[in-house]
Amino acid sequence: MDTEERVVSFIRSLNREEDALIRQLEQEARTEDVPIVRTETRELLKVLTLLHKPKRLLEVGTAIGYSAIYMSRYLPEDGIIVTIEKYEPRIAKAKKNFALAGVENRITLLEGDAADILKGLQEPFDMIFMDAAKGQYIHFLPEVLRLLVPGGMLVSDNVLQDGDVLESHYAVPRRNRTIHSRMREYLYTLKHHEELETAILPVGDGVALSIRL
Ligand code: SAM
Repeated sequence: MDTEERVVSFIRSLNREEDALIRQLEQEARTEDVPIVRTETRELLKVLTLLHKPKRLLEVGTAIGYSAIYMSRYLPEDGIIVTIEKYEPRIAKAKKNFALAGVENRITLLEGDAADILKGLQEPFDMIFMDAAKGQYIHFLPEVLRLLVPGGMLVSDNVLQDGDVLESHYAVPRRNRTIHSRMREYLYTLKHHEELETAILPVGDGVALSIRL
């Protein structure tokens, strides 16, 4: 086990055991090969949600509803989540899971491609969790910034792409090169955008934390 794995495994060993519903969703994700946030990222989201106290939180990429259900537990009392998913089988599962968790009144699932749905949203959000197809983050950014209040927090997951983003363009397999250059462009934009301050954290698969000035 290398040092990084030992660190992650030590940090995980300190987590409290989650309740039956969360464990059931993790099992569902494993069995059906659905990507959900890593445990360290989930814990970071929990603390960020408590710290930032968003009344309106937007998630791009619901999957089966795991992170939305988790974050909903740490929202302020009157906080709500709007989450977007385009893949029909996951939409059905997310709906079932929101009902199981009893959070249908706090989480609204918007069905369809975020590229279209984001354009139609008007009311701004205090926090946005970007967790959809990595190659699309850079295309979603203008709408995401339009929807983020000044002082709002943008959390982008999977920005280190299992370390691929560090590699030179030519060291990355040809099929991954577009996504690699788009993620590099996204991170560069987050770090150099005049309306944003961003910290990139090597947590989970890499998380970029940005505050809109
Ligand atoms: N946030 C979820 C969690 O941690 O429980 C995991 C989300 S998963 C990493 C990404 C999801 O985004 C997938 O279910 C995928 O179908 C969805 N997705 C990808 N591109 C999308 C798009 N353009 N519009 C809407 N959903 C999209």
